[in-house]
Amino acid sequence: IAARAPRSDRRSQLDALRRAFTGLDTEYPLADGTTAPRTYLDSAASTLRCSAADDIVRRALRHYANTHSTLHAGARIMTHLYEQAHEIVGRFVDAPDDYTTVFTGSGVTGGLNRMARVLAERRPERDLVITTLMEHHANDLPHRKHVGEVVHVPLENDPDGEAGRVDLSALRAAIDEHADRLNYVAVTAASNVTGIVNPVHEVARHAHAAGALCVVDAAQSAAHVPISVQGPDAAEALDVVCMSGHKLYAPGSPGVIVAREALFEGLEPQVVGGGIVDRVETDRYEITDALPEREEAGTPNLPGALRLAATLQLLGRIGMDLVAEDERELAQYALERFAAIDGLTIYGSHRLEVADRIGVIAFNLADLPHGLVAAALNDYFGVAVRNECFCAQPFVRELLGRAGNAGGAADGAECGPETQPGMVRASLGLYNTEQDIDAAVEALSDLAARPD
Ligand code: PLP
Repeated sequence: IAARAPRSDRRSQLDALRRAFTGLDTEYPLADGTTAPRTYLDSAASTLRCSAADDIVRRALRHYANTHSTLHAGARIMTHLYEQAHEIVGRFVDAPDDYTTVFTGSGVTGGLNRMARVLAERRPERDLVITTLMEHHANDLPHRKHVGEVVHVPLENDPDGEAGRVDLSALRAAIDEHADRLNYVAVTAASNVTGIVNPVHEVARHAHAAGALCVVDAAQSAAHVPISVQGPDAAEALDVVCMSGHKLYAPGSPGVIVAREALFEGLEPQVVGGGIVDRVETDRYEITDALPEREEAGTPNLPGALRLAATLQLLGRIGMDLVAEDERELAQYALERFAAIDGLTIYGSHRLEVADRIGVIAFNLADLPHGLVAAALNDYFGVAVRNECFCAQPFVRELLGRAGNAGGAADGAECGPETQPGMVRASLGLYNTEQDIDAAVEALSDLAARPD
């Protein structure tokens, strides 16, 4: 990642990058037989593909060959580029030398499952994980399955009684109560439902004070706000950070774990096979000590890893501080415009002075079923959003309960067999503009005015 250019240059790079995405100009048919250009407000599910990375990846893949110890030129080039991809990802989160970067095959879900198994094996006497009530299932179920008990810490109330960040005093109390069994605290850096950003370094400090670790799910935050594994001081450093390519403008499921090397040392890797062994006999084998190799058995997903690295390099050059600043402005604009729509309930605190928030807005429109609203936005207005529970059923139930809102209860959704509640979610990426927000607001206002 190049040294930081002056702010004005970075801003023009950002403006250029915004336009370099695939699929923005695609027209889709509407129900009335016309077509509309895509208004894409579903980046929290997956971001669009950054076409500015295409050239870099295409040039790299001209040499495509397997990595590992093959000696021909293409293999050497790919090995070098793959190593560079690890470095770029590490630098994106300021990883110091005693951290390793491991590519995984299946996004953050793969990364968190892997780390849950590693940490359970490393500290088997510590069979409890603390997480929050605002987690995606990927940052909850792996800990239940591989470690044991999971305690869900509640969230702060803002002055309006809306759910905010993780409640740090409740977190501290839970840590004190379970200190002897606590393996790690697993927390999302930003919610995929409310967009609220958590103070992950403070969480790390509390976890460390009890001899526990801090695992961060950066799936939803990494493309939107800066994240550094290094905290303001050593006690606030994050032990593990997991990210996903498809939320970082690199499609498919390249995932990545950035973690302290020491966490893997001395443990048999979770996945074994080719590419990670020093010697194999029919009755024994020796696995290399080298990281990340020992955690990356098999042929790597080179196109995925290179694309992710190329995209992070572009973002890193601009600087995530600038990316975040811009998104915050657009998020504020969106929150204000959405909040002014008659009958629209936004979930979670939307006071930006209380909790920082990325561009994710979950809402319901009066008592209209969330599926109907999402389908109507697409079919009549060309606005792409997501609905249902966003793989965060306990959190969505909590938010609906706080709002005393059934969330379009008539709709078929997956929050639970009994009520089938849910929400609609509009979420932003680099390419979104005020015009996109205006298009969604006009469409929602239109639906609110004639709910038939
Ligand atoms: N964590 C959060 C907060 C998410 O938003 C998501 C995806 O929606 C995940 C984890 C899972 O990521 P992946 O789909 O890359 O496994």
